Amino acid sequence: MAIASNKLNADFDIDSIRGQFPALDQKVHGHSLVYLDSGASAQKPNVVIEAVDHYYRNDHSNVHRGVHTLSERATVKYDASRVSIQKFVNAASDREIIYTSGTTEALNLVAQSWGRANIKEGDDLLVSEMEHHSNIVPWQMLAAEKSATVRKIPMDQDGVLDMQAFKKLLEGKPRVVAITHVANALGTVNPLAEIVRLAHDAGAIVVADGAQSTPHMSVDVQALDVDFYAFSGHKIYGPTGIGVLYGKESLLDAMPPWQGGGDMIKSVTFDGTIYNDLPFKFEAGTPNIADAIGMGVAADYLLDIGLEAVAAHEHSVLSYALSRAAERSEMTVFGNAPDKAGILSFALEGVHPHDIGTMLDHQGVAVRTGHHCAQPVMQFFGVPATTRASLGIYNNRQDIDRLFDGIDEVMKMFRR
Ligand code: PMP
Repeated sequence: MAIASNKLNADFDIDSIRGQFPALDQKVHGHSLVYLDSGASAQKPNVVIEAVDHYYRNDHSNVHRGVHTLSERATVKYDASRVSIQKFVNAASDREIIYTSGTTEALNLVAQSWGRANIKEGDDLLVSEMEHHSNIVPWQMLAAEKSATVRKIPMDQDGVLDMQAFKKLLEGKPRVVAITHVANALGTVNPLAEIVRLAHDAGAIVVADGAQSTPHMSVDVQALDVDFYAFSGHKIYGPTGIGVLYGKESLLDAMPPWQGGGDMIKSVTFDGTIYNDLPFKFEAGTPNIADAIGMGVAADYLLDIGLEAVAAHEHSVLSYALSRAAERSEMTVFGNAPDKAGILSFALEGVHPHDIGTMLDHQGVAVRTGHHCAQPVMQFFGVPATTRASLGIYNNRQDIDRLFDGIDEVMKMFRR
């Protein structure tokens, strides 16, 4: 069964979008590339590549401390990128946007700065079972340091968060709820606004991992009322090595800095140091200027296309993939939440995921195999690894057909 039409959404010109990503236009092992690994890292559109290139060719200098023209140009572009990111998640102020190296660093920043200042012996920290390791391990490290306890919010067989169990755990008055907005190994979209409301009623703050939501859907941190929200530039079609911690200004203001150095101070004497204002208090040292600029351009790019159109398009491609998976008795899909984004995680009976990944690569189809840095999810389903096809804005139904053609080849080989 192959559906040829890509006219899924009148506002969304998939052919033009595909043409904006030069890396897609290549052959791998003699086949035109089908890139189904955007969940790990997305490809980059020309506008992002050109913005980084233009910056290094023309504008590069250190920011914030120079009066010369290049330093001023770099500073203007760097600061403008923060305003783009503020718009991207609808933060109330650009002071609430802290640049980090990625989601991982953003979550560690919260655990180490807010956590060390606020968590004490005997406190509970709730962490969902479907988290990426980067939203588990920093809380375990904090708990070990403070003699606090990390408690698991369980999920069910479909990969849906168990809200009854969550409500029960809230009765223990935890201090933190660490939760992913979209689960990277399953695609589950968690009801974040409701989770935040329940957590706040119980007196907890919510630290959300937006690494897999920000590429796929419109995010409004004010509407969500979330306390902290972390995401990565490279997953929203921007550069690697740059990411964001959104935090409510009142919380960030009260937090101690976590790294000391240049740019995060107002004045330093041997009698003491006065820290800089937000967001710079949390950005010690020369920042990743070029990639911040590239990430701002990527955010503008997504906003220009429209996150609603992106979500509708990807949802349509995902539904098609799920309908094709449902035709296969040898295929088990992990993660069947009714609200699901961009991810098809699966097993094929009798075939190791790494063999699937290698054989698909030989047919030009890029997927990821492994535990996806979510080992508790693998433990829940009793598998060491899965094969994961993850969607980006440039994927279409033909890409899904190529994936299933590849799966046919894999099955032929293993059934011999
Ligand atoms: N959280 C989730 C849900 C992710 O998918 C990822 C990346 N796989 C991360 C956190 C970590 O992101 P990064 O490596 O960019 O810090």
